[in-house]
Amino acid sequence: MQKNMQDATAIVLAAGQGSRMQSSKAKQFMDLQGKPLLYYSLKTFADSGIGNIVIVTGQDDIDYCREMIVDYYHIDHVHAIVPGGKERYHSVYEGLKAVQDARVVMIHDGARPFVTQAMIEASYDTAKEKGAVIVGVPVKDTIKQVSKGGIALDTPDRNTLWQIQTPQSFSYNLIRSAYDRMFEQEDKAITDDAMVLERYGRHQVTVIMGDYHNIKITTPEDMIVANAYLDAIR
Ligand code: C5P
Repeated sequence: MQKNMQDATAIVLAAGQGSRMQSSKAKQFMDLQGKPLLYYSLKTFADSGIGNIVIVTGQDDIDYCREMIVDYYHIDHVHAIVPGGKERYHSVYEGLKAVQDARVVMIHDGARPFVTQAMIEASYDTAKEKGAVIVGVPVKDTIKQVSKGGIALDTPDRNTLWQIQTPQSFSYNLIRSAYDRMFEQEDKAITDDAMVLERYGRHQVTVIMGDYHNIKITTPEDMIVANAYLDAIR
């Protein structure tokens, strides 16, 4: 049975060029077993019990998204498709501005096709209770800090390191005001939404277990892994 998450909106990010993919087509629209990559996470959110979905994409891709993904695959609950910006955080801000009447927002990379219903529900419950929650997985490899010249500088204790994924979920007012404050500043260098809260929001961010399958498609070899995962779960 669907969980009732009517007061939540998912912001699904599908702007940017994804230059590390070395493909003429933006990675979020690349074909994964007959469907565009973006379809998979949209479908999971649409069927999850969430109230609304805001899609953020390139200005030139809005019609494609509406006609070839949302309408073609009958993706429900899409409230708006809005143009993104130069960096991911610009796109998130455009998404936040398009949200209407949500208590919880779940910000998700459209390039992560394997988000699950369980992850969405756990994120929603924790966001309601604590205000800010991100999913991640403990790192498996040793991580080193390396200088630009290629010299190992330091090795943080592996037991404290997690690889962070999306969805990243927040009380709407909390994340909106942190983003508003950030956009008043010059220097940003932001790679995820929790960082915005850490720097501009002064609110603790809870980390819950994601899934090692919840990869972000970034480089061509990730498509090989994504194909293998889809084969395994079908
Ligand atoms: O490029 P990166 O892998 O960090 O992108 C993560 C997600 O953010 C992708 O789903 C991508 O479509 C989105 N993004 C965006 N606007 C940008 C850059 C990335 O919506 N300017």
